[in-house]
Amino acid sequence: MATRDEVLRELGLAPVWRLRHVARIETALGEDASGASGHANGDARAMRIATLAFDALVADIAACDACGLATTRKRTVPGVGASDATWMFVGEAPGADEDAQGEPFVGAAGQLLDNMLAALALSRGNDVFIANVLKCRPPGNRTPAPLEAAACLPYLDRQIELVAPGLIVALGKSAACTLLGIDASVGSLRNRVHRYRGTPLIVTYHPAYLLRTPVDKAKAWEDLLFARRTLREAAAARD
Ligand code: URA
Repeated sequence: MATRDEVLRELGLAPVWRLRHVARIETALGEDASGASGHANGDARAMRIATLAFDALVADIAACDACGLATTRKRTVPGVGASDATWMFVGEAPGADEDAQGEPFVGAAGQLLDNMLAALALSRGNDVFIANVLKCRPPGNRTPAPLEAAACLPYLDRQIELVAPGLIVALGKSAACTLLGIDASVGSLRNRVHRYRGTPLIVTYHPAYLLRTPVDKAKAWEDLLFARRTLREAAAARD
């Protein structure tokens, strides 16, 4: 079994990681994703999704045509992991690799995410659930459009409700701002415990950003340690 130091070295993060020891968009928006219909359709759809069990939710996502991404996706990417996970990680949207495989974070950013999980002695599927704001790939990996995020949000809401994680880690601005319903930078949202419907939520950088900006990996590591402390404190407060 590799030591934590060995894991960090393998990530290419040491010694950087050792330096420190250390809107919400409304569910329905009052429109469907085409912007064409009124409150009733969006509300009814969200209410229906809010009743689905796990398997039915996956099937519903696979059949979803609530926004234009249904016409460009290869596969839907519902999420992966333990249905009773303590940790829930939320990214932005599938990329090309995820679109091809139907699983979130399987490309280069996913490799880094797996390494970050390993540094915490976690792995996907083992007390971890990974999902995205969008379940379909935006062409060219562009940022999700607000109406796409709004159309997909009932799925993420339901996943969070079903998994009932002890803590959510929002990976990047899209996830953080969608879940918190605000518009703010990742930098301004870090180092604080936010709440998503009562569940503690920590904001950190998206792995794809960290690949482009490795100097910020140290901050991401700090965020994960902060998340772990937050979980432990919440567990201790319950005991
Ligand atoms: N980036 C994301 O936000 N999610 C993925 O699944 C892959 C890359």
